[in-house]
Amino acid sequence: MLGPSNLTAEHPSADTSPITAALAGNPNSGKTTIFNSLTGARQHVGNYPGVTVEKKEGELRHKGRAIHFVDLPGTYSLTAYTLEEIAARNFIIDDKPNVLVDIIDASNLERNLYLAVQLMELRVPLVLAFNMSDVAEARGLDIDVKLLSRLLNVPIVRTIGHKGEGIDALADAVIAVADSPETYTPAEINYDREVEHELERIVPLIDKHPALAEHYNTRWLALKLIETDQDVVDKIRELVPDPSELIEAAAASAERIAVHFGDSAHIVIADKRYGFISGACQEAVRSTVESRHEMSDRIDSIATHHILGIPVFLALMYVVFKVTFALGDPPMQWLEGGFAWLAGHITMFWPKGSDSALRSLLVDGIIGGVGGVLSFLPNIMLLFMAIAILEDSGYMARAAFIMDRLMHKIGLHGKSFIPMLIGFGCSVPAIMATRTLETRRDRLTTMMILPLMSCGARLTIYTLIIPAFFPLRYRSLVMWSIYLIGILLAVLMAKLLRSTLFKGEVTPFVMELPPYRVPTVNGTLIHMWQRGSMYVKKAGTVILAVSIVMWFLASYPKKKDFDQDYESMRRRATASSISRARDFAGPL
Ligand code: GDP
Ligand code: MG
Repeated sequence: MLGPSNLTAEHPSADTSPITAALAGNPNSGKTTIFNSLTGARQHVGNYPGVTVEKKEGELRHKGRAIHFVDLPGTYSLTAYTLEEIAARNFIIDDKPNVLVDIIDASNLERNLYLAVQLMELRVPLVLAFNMSDVAEARGLDIDVKLLSRLLNVPIVRTIGHKGEGIDALADAVIAVADSPETYTPAEINYDREVEHELERIVPLIDKHPALAEHYNTRWLALKLIETDQDVVDKIRELVPDPSELIEAAAASAERIAVHFGDSAHIVIADKRYGFISGACQEAVRSTVESRHEMSDRIDSIATHHILGIPVFLALMYVVFKVTFALGDPPMQWLEGGFAWLAGHITMFWPKGSDSALRSLLVDGIIGGVGGVLSFLPNIMLLFMAIAILEDSGYMARAAFIMDRLMHKIGLHGKSFIPMLIGFGCSVPAIMATRTLETRRDRLTTMMILPLMSCGARLTIYTLIIPAFFPLRYRSLVMWSIYLIGILLAVLMAKLLRSTLFKGEVTPFVMELPPYRVPTVNGTLIHMWQRGSMYVKKAGTVILAVSIVMWFLASYPKKKDFDQDYESMRRRATASSISRARDFAGPL
């Protein structure tokens, strides 16, 4: 093991008290693999108190010491955005394990260190396992572990999880750190002068409350309060009878930071953490294969440029829109034709003019309902092809990055932009496109405001109604304003939903920009197939059932007495609407 001191666990120490060690790490960093090789079959599974997040525990006897391992949920961060993050954080703060082990995917170092830095801020004795070190090496990353360990004042052990390499050394490091925690207190991150100044104001206010000062690291608590971490604020309200002075002071600090930096305090603080990591990696990591990243950087100098990025983004979005609707139109017509043909053939089994309930169920209910939904399949497949290409190539992260600032203002994620744009074509594929959003809150808010984007089918209706009410010179203006009012209502609606039904933190800004890659044909096809088959499955189950119910509600009870000669009315209406649509086409 590599550590800041010469202390190793080679000679079993006299201390024999059991050690509790918690394993933290990003999802897919190899945490479960390492937990399994540490504890073998000696495991049991439970839940964290009050939440349905799985908690796995296991035992290890190593060099005469008993170590109790707890596998924390995989998280990218320790903010309070997800149940997993809160469960992991509460375990660390409330149960105070002797040692924290952070499993890091060393092939994706900077991103994984973001969690490590937040663990360091908790000032709990920490060991870093640089897992996937085989992958890191294969990617040409040369990490100076000794230097990095000294910069962070945290022992680092290289591991290869699935081969069991480095597991013994990791257990050694856990014992060494548990036995002399004061030697291994992680390095402190210094924030900008303004932030440090605000921390100095808040810390004494926390010290006034012994209940807080005993339970928390005060600097960490002050940071969280300035970041306005809701979970922490709630906890404080439980622990302290009258915390209003403290909470108000923290809010004032956050406000001053926001005014100074022109960005909210939690973003300023997150930026600083990234800065710290990027600085440490600059020192300690050399890449022997730089070509791909250099290429990515060169593309990014345009794609994420604060001005040039926008036309690139708009052009690509135009392509996505065109692919979905223009390419999708002919197969959609074929499908519609196919269903009409089928309906015609089914109708032929009955005598002309029959009002058989079965015929009506099959033709109007099932074919009308399920067929109507299925005819969107080509649009959906093409849309997901486009999305798969955007995601796999790495551009989606850039698109979200470009839109984030704007979309955050209405409480949405940068990625919500794509479903909203597709909504101008048709709401059905647009709702499907919300699947690219990670949190349920973002998905639901986006779905709820989607119908306010005027879809293509409504254009026909606008062209019919506008000439009936407005003189020629106002018609284009009215048309524009319908679209604009829709967008404005969507913005208001999003804000309203965010402050009522879907309250909560906005998901954080996109930070990580993966290198560009050429998407594979296979990956794209698999993605299209998965989305397409999911859609067909829904059409065959939920939508089939709803179609039958809707058909029933629309057909019964029959109200013959009120019927009129709709057919001739329809003919009259069409004739006059065609002539109006012609009037309208003029000024456009
Ligand atoms: P978790 O999400 O952090 O629990 O990750 P898992 O333990 O499930 O590991 C994810 C995948 O990475 C599995 O297929 C492991 O076999 C693999 N894996 C784990 N450690 C290593 C490693 O050091 N090198 C390589 N190449 N693969 C690893
Ligand atoms: Mg796992």
